[in-house]
Amino acid sequence: MTPDEFRGHAHSLVEWMAMYLENVEKYPVKSGVKPREIFNKIPSSPPAGPEPFENFMHDLEEIIMPGITHWQSPGFFAYFPANSSPPSVLAEMITATLGAQCMNWETSPAAAELEEKMMIWLREMTGLPSTLEGVIQDSASGATLAAIITAREKVTGFAVNNDGAGSAGRLRVYCSGQAHSSVDKAVKICGIGKKNLVKVAVRDDFSMDPAALQKAIEEDKKNGFIPCCVVATIGTTGTTAVDPIRAIGEICNKSDIWLHVDAAMAGTALILPEFRWMIDGKEYIDSFLFNPHKWMFTNFDCTAFFIKDAAALIKTFEILPEYLKTRTRGIVNDYRDWGIPLGRRFRALKLWSVIRSYGTEGLQKKIREHIDFAARLKEMILREADFEILAPVVINVVCFRYCPAGINENGLNDLNEKLNHYLNDTGRLYLSHTMINGKYTLRMVTGQTNVTFNHVEKAWELIKESARGLI
Ligand SMILES: *Cc1c(COP(=O)(O)O)cnc(C)c1O
Repeated sequence: MTPDEFRGHAHSLVEWMAMYLENVEKYPVKSGVKPREIFNKIPSSPPAGPEPFENFMHDLEEIIMPGITHWQSPGFFAYFPANSSPPSVLAEMITATLGAQCMNWETSPAAAELEEKMMIWLREMTGLPSTLEGVIQDSASGATLAAIITAREKVTGFAVNNDGAGSAGRLRVYCSGQAHSSVDKAVKICGIGKKNLVKVAVRDDFSMDPAALQKAIEEDKKNGFIPCCVVATIGTTGTTAVDPIRAIGEICNKSDIWLHVDAAMAGTALILPEFRWMIDGKEYIDSFLFNPHKWMFTNFDCTAFFIKDAAALIKTFEILPEYLKTRTRGIVNDYRDWGIPLGRRFRALKLWSVIRSYGTEGLQKKIREHIDFAARLKEMILREADFEILAPVVINVVCFRYCPAGINENGLNDLNEKLNHYLNDTGRLYLSHTMINGKYTLRMVTGQTNVTFNHVEKAWELIKESARGLI
C-alpha cells in the first residue's frame, strides 16, 4: 500500500467509523451467529498475492460485522462496560500509526514520561495517596498477578524468584467469596496454588467480613501457614459490593500482610468526591488497580496500577540483558520492569486524549449520570410487585429478578434464565446474570458511554413486557 493509497483508505475508513458510531443502535446488541459460522466463511488458506483493501472492507461488512457484539451500543447492559469514546479512538489511531515499543524510557521517552504524568493525574483524580506510584498494565488480571507475585517475593525475601517455588513456605492469599476469578488465576500461576487461596465469608451486603478474615489469618498462623496477601475488592463483579478497606487494612498492617485492592470497574467512581468513602483506610493500601478501559471511556487495554513499594515491584520483575542496557538506567522509569510483558504499547496517549476531551468535570458528570440511572431503575423495579431487587444498588449495577407469585425457587430460576435469553435474542438489549444465594439474578449495568435515561426506561419496559408475556 503506497502512502497515497493509505491516505485514501484512511479517509474512507474514518467515514466508516463515524457511520458506525452514529448507527450503532441499529445493530442487534448481542451477535446471534452460531459457533463456526464466521470461521467457515473465511478462506482456509491465505491469498498468495496482494488483494485490494476494498475486498477487506467488503468482508468486514459481510463476514465480520454479523459476528460482533456491540459493546458501544447504549443497549449494552451486560457484564461491565468496556467503554470507548471518540477521543480515545482518535488517540489509538495515532498509537497504531507511531507503532512505538515503549518498553524502556529510551525506546520512546515521551511514552514513558506521559505515562508517569497520566498516572499522577489519575491518582489525583481518584484521591489515592500520593505515596502510590502508578504504571499502566494490560488488564486487571495482569496487575493482580503482578501484585501477588511482588507480595510473594517480599514475604519470602525474594527467595522464589531465585530458588524456585519450593523455597516459598506455605503461603496464603485471602479474598472474599465474591472476588473476581482473576485472583484464582493469579494464585494458580504464581506457584502459591488454588488450595492456598482462602475465600473469606461475606456479610449480608456481600462485602468481606473482616472478623472472618482475622480468624482465618490467626488459624493459618497457628497451622504454620504464612499469610502473604489479602485481595480486597471495591465493586465486586456480581453485585458491586465494596469490601471495608480500613478494617481489612488494620488487620493486614498488624500482621505485615500485603493489601491489594481490585477496583477494576468501580474505581472510576472515585473521581466523584462523594464516593471516596470506598477508599477510607487508603493509607493501608499496598497496591491498587482500576480499569479506565471499563468505565472511563478509554478503549481496551488500559489498567491503572498503583503501588506503594515500587522498588519491590521492580526488584521482582527486573531483567537486564546486555541488549537492554541503556545510559539512562536508574534516572528514568523503564516500565518493562514494572510488570510481565517486555513490549508495551503507547497507552498513555489515549488516556491523555480522553481526560483532556472531557475534563475532570465532564467525566464526573457522566459517571454521576450513570449512577443516577441505576438508582432510578431500582425505584422503577421496586414499584412492580412481581419483580424484586436482590442486592444493594451501590454504584451502577442493579441486580433483580422476575418473581411472579406461586412459582417455587427452581421455577423462578428457570423463568429468569429463559427471560435473559429471550431479551438478548431480541437484539434490542444485552443483559448478563449472576447467582445470588442460589437465585438466578439478572444484572443491568447502566455504565455504557452513550446510555441515556431514555435507553434505561425503554429497556425496563421491554423487560417487564417480555417477562409477563413468558408465563
Ligand atoms: C473486570 C474485572 C476484572 C478483570 O479485568 P481484566 O482487565 O479483563 O483482567 C477483575 N476484577 C474485577 C472486580 C473486575 O470487575
